[in-house]
Amino acid sequence: MESRAIALLKEAGSKGLLLSELIQELEKSASNVQNVIESLKRQGYVKEVEDQHNGASTTRLIWQGRESSKWNTFNGCPCFSCKEIEQCGEGQPITPWYCGKLNVWLAERLNPT
Ligand code: SF4
Repeated sequence: MESRAIALLKEAGSKGLLLSELIQELEKSASNVQNVIESLKRQGYVKEVEDQHNGASTTRLIWQGRESSKWNTFNGCPCFSCKEIEQCGEGQPITPWYCGKLNVWLAERLNPT
């Protein structure tokens, strides 16, 4: 799901997507989508801004692009230079399942643009 969310946010460009639009596009629960977004925000890939839609306050998500990096191990896999590797793993607050850095890296290899 994270790879699809990343692709949709990238596709939306600087205009971004409303959180509700992203939930609708992904056809997943709001809490699952919010978990993915929180992970991407924590790692600096997504910015959240307040917006108005149909007279109501809502959240717009904007892709921030890839962080510049100097990773040069295993084609740039972020795990090799990750500051959070000691806290990362199954059952930990940070896991590869919801890691934006890892998922962006994988998505870029699966769907090169
Ligand atoms: S999965 Fe993400 S948080 Fe975990 S070591 Fe790799 S880059 Fe770091």
